[in-house]
Amino acid sequence: MSISEETGTDSLTLSHPFPSAAIETPAVPWRRVVVKLSGEALMGSLTHGLDAYTLNRIASDLANVASLGIEVAVVVGGGNFFRGIAGADKGIERARADSIGMLATVMNGLALEYAIEKQGQSARTLSSVPMPSVCEAYSRQAALHHLEKGRIAVLAGGTGNPFFTTDTGAALRGAELSCDLIMKATQVDGIYSADPKRDPNAERYDRITHDEAIRKNLAVMDTAAFALARENRIPIIVFSISEPGAITAALLGKGRSTFVSP
Ligand code: UDP
Repeated sequence: MSISEETGTDSLTLSHPFPSAAIETPAVPWRRVVVKLSGEALMGSLTHGLDAYTLNRIASDLANVASLGIEVAVVVGGGNFFRGIAGADKGIERARADSIGMLATVMNGLALEYAIEKQGQSARTLSSVPMPSVCEAYSRQAALHHLEKGRIAVLAGGTGNPFFTTDTGAALRGAELSCDLIMKATQVDGIYSADPKRDPNAERYDRITHDEAIRKNLAVMDTAAFALARENRIPIIVFSISEPGAITAALLGKGRSTFVSP
């Protein structure tokens, strides 16, 4: 059941994502979202790999979002295992190194799918790099089918092509699956004018346009991802994944985040 069915309100006509006192809005104005989780988000305080506590915390948060009636696709990164650029720096040809990176995202996808199912919420991993003995191959139809059935679609393998990132994968899947919102989970609570961990004068934006983010070359997502989201008029919420319930809170407009809108 979609939120708009539940409330009888067409949530997609809202110009602002967060409920305000002046406008009567449903609590959650999103029907279908794509969440971008980097590999880093899954490694907790480890230096690489998967941290079981963090994985379960995020899985529980995702299951909670699904229980609100929101359809959830998750694009997982692979940087906790391997990044193509790092491989290329060590002498592996870039396209091959990127293939290794895409395989890393499938490992994360399978782990996340399992963690979500342990929460009692159904999930399916779909990989853009077909590997039928391990998980379903990604197709738009299959992903839409799972989303409509209320399953969380864990999308692995990025775009399926080298020289791209899973940020671009998230924007691409967000557009082709008609998502209302891209949720970019990061280690900080929004988009800053500079890296807040290095520059104490870095300013945080509450709201910004896709154009501004591209023009200012803000490093939070790659330009291709911002450009795809802009062309398809999909807003992006950038928020910190470090606290339990962070995804739900960001969706409900609680806590600090940056809202990128057309
Ligand atoms: N990758 C790729 N094509 C894609 C998405 C990812 O080749 O469409 C590879 C690339 O090598 C990348 C790695 O997979 O470095 C892991 O993805 P990403 O760096 O986006 O993961 P994250 O930083 O989000 O953990």
